[in-house]
Formats: sequence, C-alpha cells, structure tokens
Amino acid sequence: MVDREKIERAVTSIIEAIGEDPNREGLVGTPQRIAEMYAELFSGLDKDPKEELSVGFEEGHREMVIVKDIAFYSMCEHHLLPFYGLAHIGYIPSGDGRVVGVSKLARVVEIIARRPQLQERMTTQIADTILEAVGADGVAVIIQAEHLCMTMRGIKKPGANIVTSAMRGLFRRKAATRNEFLCLVQGR
Ligand code: ZN
Repeated sequence: MVDREKIERAVTSIIEAIGEDPNREGLVGTPQRIAEMYAELFSGLDKDPKEELSVGFEEGHREMVIVKDIAFYSMCEHHLLPFYGLAHIGYIPSGDGRVVGVSKLARVVEIIARRPQLQERMTTQIADTILEAVGADGVAVIIQAEHLCMTMRGIKKPGANIVTSAMRGLFRRKAATRNEFLCLVQGR
C-alpha cells in the first residue's frame, strides 16, 4: 500500500531542492496531487495479475487467439518518467481449449504496467502470467513503447519506439507459429 503522506513530504523536499517555493500558489497542492497520482500509477504493486485469469471458458478452441493494440501506460523505474504504447498478445489454448476474456488480458497488462517497470521485464511478466494462469501451449507478447526518459531528455529521439518480445512454448519452438503471429500483429 502506498504511503501518501511520505510521498507528499518527499515531493515538498524536491520542490525546495530545485529552488522553488512549495508555498507558491501553483505548487501548494502539488505534493498531495502527486501522492494521489502515484497511488493510482503504482496500484499494480499489490495486485496479482493471475487472479484476473482465474475465470475462463472451455470453448474447445485450439487455434491461436490474438489481441492487438492494448494501450498501456507505465513508469520507467530508472527515471520515474512514463513509457507508453501498445501491447500485442497471442496464445494457443491447451488441450481443454480454455480461453479467457479479452478484457481480462487487457487487465493483466494494466496491473503489470502500474508498477515501477522496465519494458523488458513487463514483457516477460505478461507472457509468464498468461502461460501459467491460462495453461496455454504457447504465449507471445510484443510491446512497442515510447519512453519519455529517451524523448524529453538525454538522447532526445522523439517518436523512437522500443520493441520487445517474449515467446513461450509453441511460439518459441515453431517458426511457422511465430511467423503467423507476427504477420497477424503487423496486419499483413
Ligand atoms: Zn528511463
């Protein structure tokens, strides 16, 4: 659970440390606003994304399921600046054909995004969560994101996207399965 008062004190210290006046009209409510915002942005820390996938449907569906363009917002743990973009998820149900709702997969992405994160770890956490909780024969995750710590500071490359992927099970073992997923995600 997020300690809002501690965040408020810390933000007041930062405002003072940059030489600003924490009592100036525009800044006076800022520590409280940031504390409330962080409670929301880091709310994934005390949630288990696997619980979202506990309800599934035995549809007997054995073919690849793909959910494209799941928008997400996360916070880079190195700079506490946002990175945001799209997640694409594919999975192949196992023998019992168990599938999960599209909104549940989006919720898994949201819970894992709402933590101090690295894009690489976020990608593998989403893949492993789905693999374990759905019991799928294969899971593929691709994430493309823009990192404000790259575009508004440092090397300043606006619009540059970082793309990461995690392949599990059949997607890792079979090139044809992997290629089918990549073609469908790229819309070709
Ligand atoms: Zn960063």
